[in-house]
Amino acid sequence: MTATLIDGTRIAAAVEAEVRTEVARLRRDGIRPGLAVVLVGADPASASYVGMKARMCEKLGIHSLKLELGEETTTDQLLAEIDALNADDAIDGILVQLPLPPQVDKKAILEAVSPVKDADGFHSTNIGSLILGYDGLVACTPSGIMEMLRRSDVALEGKRAVVLGRSDDVGKPMAMLLMHAHATVTICHSRTRNLASVAREADILIAAIGRKYLVRRDFIKPGAVVVDVGANRITDRDEVIELFGAESPRIARFDRAGYIWVGDVHEREALEVASKLSPVPGGAGPMTIAMLMRNTLEGARLRRGLACAESA
Ligand code: NAP
Repeated sequence: MTATLIDGTRIAAAVEAEVRTEVARLRRDGIRPGLAVVLVGADPASASYVGMKARMCEKLGIHSLKLELGEETTTDQLLAEIDALNADDAIDGILVQLPLPPQVDKKAILEAVSPVKDADGFHSTNIGSLILGYDGLVACTPSGIMEMLRRSDVALEGKRAVVLGRSDDVGKPMAMLLMHAHATVTICHSRTRNLASVAREADILIAAIGRKYLVRRDFIKPGAVVVDVGANRITDRDEVIELFGAESPRIARFDRAGYIWVGDVHEREALEVASKLSPVPGGAGPMTIAMLMRNTLEGARLRRGLACAESA
């Protein structure tokens, strides 16, 4: 079997175009959705993510505010900034870029964000709403994966889904969304025994563990749909060649940048066994940003008691 690739970049662009249209409509009514992105410290990867999010806001007509705070910022200082953003009428979504420096109490910060401005969907109120099936803001990576599966005509009802990873931001909400879509869901983690054989039961396999190409051929049931969420940096050229072959365009990409991103799934092996694969890069990553934009739009509506937009 040779899997087809799910094109997350193309699907994300379609979602973004819908958000742009809705933003333009709101702006005609005098409402401009706004997103505040808070960066603490100078981690280059975090700074690059924050820059990408601000640029996407600009592209879609969303007001964006970038708040950059020093590495030594305390929990109390950050709480004061979050309070100010909660009170700022120009802001509908607040995203605190993770990871935070060790002196900052992450839980206190995420809980301080007003649930109606919680663009990341990490507040316990929104997680509770997700479990109960109420309206609310849902974490962007899992909701982006659901949108990608829906727009790729992947049926979920009655299917076996296995989620590798149980983090609060990906694994747990992912499992909940799949369950609400009537899949039968298994969640795996670092203590799961016989991981490959559990994974091999999946019609839909989601890999969100952060271990480069841990998911090999023997993890994948023939014909399964595989979504790779992992984001792992490879800085060894020989490793790139071994993974993708000497003719792969990834070698040129590596030579330009000095690194490439790979997921948790061994792509070449997965392509031979799966029916569809959402790859890294170009799958869950762009969908995450698109859903952040959509959450900001929904935040703007929720805060004003307007109905949420139906997606295409
Ligand atoms: P995380 O918080 O570190 O959680 C990792 C999960 O994987 C944990 O539940 C852990 O189990 C499990 N795990 C680790 N090693 C394992 C192993 N050998 N076997 C089975 N399970 C194992 O990570 P995360 O935030 O969920 O992110 C996961 C990956 O997705 C990372 O590479 C991250 O960079 C990427 N990511 C990408 C996007 C995107 O937009 N593309 C967004 C979010 C995350 P325990 O709970 O037992 O420790």
